[in-house]
Amino acid sequence: MKTDLYGLTRQELTELVLGWGEPAFRAQQIWHWLYRQLATSLTEMHNLPPALRERMERQVVVGQPKLVAARKSADGEAEKWLLEMADGETVETVLMSYDRGDTLCISSQVGCAMGCLFCATGQMGFRRHLSSGEIVAQAVASERELRRKGRRLKNLVFMGMGEPLHNYAATVEAIRCLIDPDGFGLGARRVTVSTVGLAPQIRRLADEEWQVGLAISLHAATDEERSRLIPAARGWSVVELVAAGRHYWERTGRRVTFECALIQGENDTLKQAEALSRLVSDMPCHVNLIPLNATAGYVGQGSSPKRVNRFCQVLTRHGVSCTVRLRRGTDIEAGCGQLRQQLGTAASATQTA
Ligand code: SF4
Repeated sequence: MKTDLYGLTRQELTELVLGWGEPAFRAQQIWHWLYRQLATSLTEMHNLPPALRERMERQVVVGQPKLVAARKSADGEAEKWLLEMADGETVETVLMSYDRGDTLCISSQVGCAMGCLFCATGQMGFRRHLSSGEIVAQAVASERELRRKGRRLKNLVFMGMGEPLHNYAATVEAIRCLIDPDGFGLGARRVTVSTVGLAPQIRRLADEEWQVGLAISLHAATDEERSRLIPAARGWSVVELVAAGRHYWERTGRRVTFECALIQGENDTLKQAEALSRLVSDMPCHVNLIPLNATAGYVGQGSSPKRVNRFCQVLTRHGVSCTVRLRRGTDIEAGCGQLRQQLGTAASATQTA
C-alpha cells in the first residue's frame, strides 16, 4: 500500500526522503508543495528530479478526502462538507464567514466517546480517532477551495466531530503542522482547540506553550447538572476544570473561553448563571452563550433569546465578559454530527474536495 504524504509529519517525511538517499532539502521542497502550494498530485512537483518523482509515483500518494455531500446555508455564510476518508468513514467540516474572516471548524475523530446528550456526534458513539494527516487534510481541502475564490483561511477551530484532547497526539501533531511557518503557516493565535474538558490534557496542552486558543465547553456550572448533560464529565469536577483553564492562561497568556450551549429550562436558569459567575469571575476569561442547535436524538430545545439575554446579564453584572454567539447554518445541520446523522454513514462519493 502506498504511503499518503499528507499523513506524514515533517520529521517522518524527512526520514523517508533521507532513506531514499536524497538530501534533506528535497523533503523541504515536498513539504512546501504539500502545505504552501497545496498540491493535489505528484506531477505538480516539477522542481523534483525525474528519478525521485518516479520513485515517489511507485511508493507514495497525495491523499485527499472525498467530498460526499455539501450544504450551503441560505445566507451563504456557512458551508458544511461531509468528507470521506480512505477507509470510507466520514467526518464533517464547516466553513463559516465572519466579519473577521473565514473560519474553519474541523473534526478530530469519527464519532465521539464523550456522549454529550444533546450532540448528534455524541449520539452516534465513538468509531475511531483521525490521524494527524486526516485532521490537516480538512484544512488543506478548504484552503484550496478558498484560494480558488481568491480568499484565505483566517481562523481554525477544533469544534467539529470528536473531542480533540481525547485524540491528543494526533491533535498536537496536526496543530504543529498547521502553525508551521514553513508549512501551512496559520498563526497559532488563529487556532482554537475546543474541549469538553479533559483537565489533564488541558494542562499538557498548556505545557506545549503555543499561543493556541482554548475553549472549554462547560455547559453547566454545577457538577450535578454538568454530569447529567455530559456523562464523561464525571471524571473531573467543574472546579478542577476551571483550575486547568487557569493553568492554561498562566502558561500561555491566552484568556480561556468557556462555552455554554443553553437549553431551554435545563441549564439556562438564574441559579446556573449565578453559579457560573461565582466559578469564573476571578479569572481572565470570556463566556460564549450559544442557544442549543436541536438534534433528533435529544428532546431539549435552544433557549429563547429572552432567557439567553437574561443569563448574559447575570454574568455581566458579576463582571464576567460574555457574548451571545450567533448560531450559523442552522438550515444546513451545522451542529457537529448533524449532517452525517441525517445522511447516515453510507453516503456515496460524488466528487473530490
Ligand atoms: S459536543 Fe463535542 S465532546 Fe460532546 S459528544 Fe459532541 S463532539 Fe463529543
